[in-house]
Amino acid sequence: TAQANPNGAFQFYSKELNARTSSRLNMEAELRRALDRNELTLHFQPKYTVDTGALIGAECLLRWQHPEHGQVSPLEFIPVAEETGLIVEIGQRVIDEACRQHSAWQRQGLIPGQLAVNVSVQQFRHGAFVDGVRGALERHGVAPRHLKLELTESLLMIEPLKVADMLNELRTLGVQLSIDDFGTGYSSLSYLSALPIDELKIDRSFLTHVETRPESAAIVRAILALAGCLNMSVVAEGVETQGQLAFLKEHQCEAFQGFLFSRPVPADDFAQMLSTSSENT
Ligand code: C2E
Ligand code: MG
Ligand code: MG
Ligand code: MG
Repeated sequence: TAQANPNGAFQFYSKELNARTSSRLNMEAELRRALDRNELTLHFQPKYTVDTGALIGAECLLRWQHPEHGQVSPLEFIPVAEETGLIVEIGQRVIDEACRQHSAWQRQGLIPGQLAVNVSVQQFRHGAFVDGVRGALERHGVAPRHLKLELTESLLMIEPLKVADMLNELRTLGVQLSIDDFGTGYSSLSYLSALPIDELKIDRSFLTHVETRPESAAIVRAILALAGCLNMSVVAEGVETQGQLAFLKEHQCEAFQGFLFSRPVPADDFAQMLSTSSENT
């Protein structure tokens, strides 16, 4: 068909497609190698209470230290891991590592608070998900309330009955459940109210414009009101300015994370923050 096209547009398209496919295949192979060579590590972004700024835990975020390309963003490799199914293994390792780290910090006398991990749809749907979570907690002797799972709105919409069953199982186990990037998806509010969700995490895009766009401010206020009605707590992500933090304080949002107080940091740096914060309390 490329030949039939007089201006060669088709040919160009297929060449570009090939390049994309091969770079994806490349990345898949590299990701597998990265797993074997332990090039994937967790960084920790501290979370704080809005009213006192007390350190209450962290979100665990994957980092890939590639031997040649340096740090590869999760925004690049998570989608490939999801398409290839590698996310099931990667995601389980993240949960395991979060639990291992939590328990190591506790043994050092630190109080890491709650560690939140991100969960992909493909990982959640995989049959062994709940057992994987339970296993990691048991292996490392971590109390389930110290682990928070960040789920997406799109995850709630796949096979609603099965999802509700799984969430109830996780809730019974005692782990915390949060909806990440809340406000950017299409959750049905009545469905949401029927699920055992502990926390809504307001997407960064709303915080970015909360001081300048009335619509963003209205959405943040609406999410806070909704969470109040449904008995859920709220954490704001992507807080970069004192003005944004002041807005959250004024509207009684419980917790936040963001570059204003800290970027995601390596484990040692987070441990350092934990030890100085406990000296202050
Ligand atoms: P997310 O879960 O919404 O994580 C928050 C992202 O916002 C992180 O980007 C974090 O570094 C960034 N961020 C936090 N505060 C600020 C701020 O004040 N300003 C700005 N500009 N950015 C801020 P990161 O680490 O690049 O992760 C991107 C996404 O990759 C995450 O979004 C999450 O969806 C995904 N991801 C990361 N680790 C994992 C993982 O272990 N499993 C899965 N399934 N996804 C992951
Ligand atoms: Mg997240
Ligand atoms: Mg988020
Ligand atoms: Mg986000």
